Amino acid sequence: VYILAVETSCDETSVAVVKDGREVLVNLVASQIETHKAFGGVVPEVASRQHVECITLLMEQAIAESGIAPEQLTAIAVTEGPGLVGALLVGIMAAKALAFSLDKPLIGTHHIAGHIYANQLIGEIQYPAIALVVSGGHTEIVRMESEGRFEVVGQTRDDAVGEAYDKVARSLGFPYPGGPHVDKAAQAANSAVPLPRVWLEEGSYDFSLSGLKSAVLNLVNQSRMKGEEIDAGGIARGFQESVVEVLVGKAVRAMRQFGAKQLLLCGGVAANGGLRSELTARCEAEGITLSIPPMKYCTDNAAMIGAAAYIKWMHGEVSDLYIKGEPGMSLENWSVGRSKEQ
Ligand code: ATP
Ligand code: MG
Ligand code: FE
Repeated sequence: VYILAVETSCDETSVAVVKDGREVLVNLVASQIETHKAFGGVVPEVASRQHVECITLLMEQAIAESGIAPEQLTAIAVTEGPGLVGALLVGIMAAKALAFSLDKPLIGTHHIAGHIYANQLIGEIQYPAIALVVSGGHTEIVRMESEGRFEVVGQTRDDAVGEAYDKVARSLGFPYPGGPHVDKAAQAANSAVPLPRVWLEEGSYDFSLSGLKSAVLNLVNQSRMKGEEIDAGGIARGFQESVVEVLVGKAVRAMRQFGAKQLLLCGGVAANGGLRSELTARCEAEGITLSIPPMKYCTDNAAMIGAAAYIKWMHGEVSDLYIKGEPGMSLENWSVGRSKEQ
């Protein structure tokens, strides 16, 4: 089964060809980070226009590099949501056109299912599994009883982790996207400014990051007003320790409560050095099997979309040519078998 996958939900244009949901034949990514840097964040309309400029070329190049003739493709997959609607639409229109012209089925795919299934690109997922999704727009603990079935057991009530990182980074004076800069500063610092841990109600798997973020912004503003030098390293380290402790603590508790066999880390913040090392250490100590995809499959890419779409294909679920971008698309409703249950 050869799936050509397209991803344009945010600021990366990506096209991949994936064999059997596991083997990546080609995965091309055109990032717009440099364009959006000047604005300190992603400008939706600018993103859409850049997707338009490179999507056709990337599709042609991906097919050429895959070594697969277009007729050999089994299906065309595309991110249907969640994401920026204008950005999503560019990928969806391109994917529809290709599917129509080649007379191949179209598979509208959930972006977060893609982030989770990036783990299938490096090894077999063992179910039941727990996924810790940490990205620019999402912070979730997802329970998977079996292949392609998603239950969101906890999520952020305000900011996503990546978003909080980027806002903290901006207040500390780092360029966009700031997550990696805060990570680096945190790891280089030799002491941490004490900051609160936000666990919420006992037993809850939800997260809240806005209070912690505000605590950081207040510290920075107070120092500025007093004319003191800002301890950027100490603040970065304190922030990172707080975030990581809560993420790891809740993920490990979910693993135990649901008797899961494997913990899947995914999303752009999976690049975080503090999170990776702390999670790895805790999982080793607790005898938990942990899967972390390589960096190129953690940030937005089309290979992960091809991996998730393959599950739908194997369960005989495809989309029609009328799909449109779903900015607030539900992960649970995208589960296999769900359309039949409803
Ligand atoms: P979503 O998948 O929720 O729609 P997204 O696709 O925009 O969001 P990703 O591309 O998965 O998000 O991740 C980007 C985020 O990851 C940014 O907020 C960025 O700052 C953050 N990030 C990247 N590297 C690191 C790091 N080392 N430490 C912390 N955050 C990081
Ligand atoms: Mg991105
Ligand atoms: Fe993403």
